[in-house]
Amino acid sequence: MYTLITQVAEIFKKADRILFITGAGLSADSGLPTYRGIGGLYDDKHTDEGIPIEEALSGDMLKRHPEITWKYLWQIGSACSGKKFNRGHEVIALIEKMKSETWVLTQNIDGFHRDAGSKNLIEVHGNASELYCTKCSFKSSSQNFLSGYGTAIQIPPKCPECKGLIRPNVVLFGEMLPEKALKQIYEIETIRMDAVLSVGTSGVFPYISGPVIMARQAGVPTVEINPCDTGLSDMVDFKIKAGAAETLDRIWKEMNKA
Ligand SMILES: [Zn+2]
Repeated sequence: MYTLITQVAEIFKKADRILFITGAGLSADSGLPTYRGIGGLYDDKHTDEGIPIEEALSGDMLKRHPEITWKYLWQIGSACSGKKFNRGHEVIALIEKMKSETWVLTQNIDGFHRDAGSKNLIEVHGNASELYCTKCSFKSSSQNFLSGYGTAIQIPPKCPECKGLIRPNVVLFGEMLPEKALKQIYEIETIRMDAVLSVGTSGVFPYISGPVIMARQAGVPTVEINPCDTGLSDMVDFKIKAGAAETLDRIWKEMNKA
C-alpha cells in the first residue's frame, strides 16, 4: 500500500533541504508535559497565587516578584529533569547528517534537539538549561548552578558575583523573541526548502505557522505530524495523524529501505 509514510519518505529522499518545525508534541514522547508557551503544566491555568500562569511566567512578574516566577520555573525545570531526547529528535538529527541543509525551528526549551545532535537549530523560545545574571555577565547552566533542579535552593537564585537576579535564557510571556532567533527565522525564510514538516505543534505563533504557509504558497510539499487537528491541518499536503517519535522512525526506515 502506498501509504502517507511512503509518500513522505519519497519526498524526503529527493529533498536537499528540509525544514522541521517542532513543538511540545515531539518532547511529549520523552515524557515531558505538553506546554502551551512554557506554561503547559498548568491545565487549569491558575496558580496557587490565584493568578493565570501566563502572568506568573511573564517577564513583568520576573521583575516585580521573581520569587513567584521562579517557583513555576522550578516546577517546570524539575518536571523536565532526568528526561532526554527521543527517537523523533534522533531521526531529525540523522536526516541533517544526511542532508546538511536541513534546519530545525523549535518552540521547545528543553534542548533535546541539541542533545540529539541537530546543528542547524533555531531555539526560538530559548533554552531552559542556560542561566544568566540579569545584572552582570555571569553565565551558568541549570546542571551546574541548580544541580539540574535536583536540590532545593533558595529562590530566586542570586548571582554569586554580584547578587543580581539569575534567570533562564527563555522567552517568558510578554517578552520579545531574541534578536538572534528573529534573524535566523528571516534567513531560513529566504532559503528555498524542498519540504516543510510541522511536528507536534499547534502552530499558533505566526513565526511557527509562517514558514508552512509560505511553503504552501510556493508549492513546496508540506507535512504535519500530530495526533490532534491543528490550525495547520487543513493547509498541509500530507497530514499524518499520529505520534511524533513513532512516525519519524517509520519515515526514516522507509527512507533507508534498499
Ligand atoms: Zn551578576
